[in-house]
Amino acid sequence: MDFSKLDGLIPAVVQDSTSGEVLMVGFMNDEAWQRTRDTGYVTFFSRSRQTLWTKGETSGNRLAVRQILTDCDDDTVLVRVEREGDGLVCHTGTRSCFTTEWPCTTASRTGAAS
Ligand SMILES: [Zn+2]
Repeated sequence: MDFSKLDGLIPAVVQDSTSGEVLMVGFMNDEAWQRTRDTGYVTFFSRSRQTLWTKGETSGNRLAVRQILTDCDDDTVLVRVEREGDGLVCHTGTRSCFTTEWPCTTASRTGAAS
């Protein structure tokens, strides 16, 4: 993994392995990355607290790893998980962190997509 681009961190996108829903994005340093793979539970590096945190360690809403994929240049990870506990991933009490929709222009499709 290439940790050099973000000062020792890589973004980790967490996706529900069954529904495909994108649940949250966090950051991992090398230690969090190793711990996630060793324990089978998603562990991030908290930038605000400057410490490792295993998601759900107090709430019980842990994220059980099912598959890990890295992107084409090895600087971002996609972690496909099963949700434990009540499945409410976000600390605000929603299933996913991505709940706020912003107005935007939706481009019309021209020609064939590739
Ligand atoms: Zn959230």
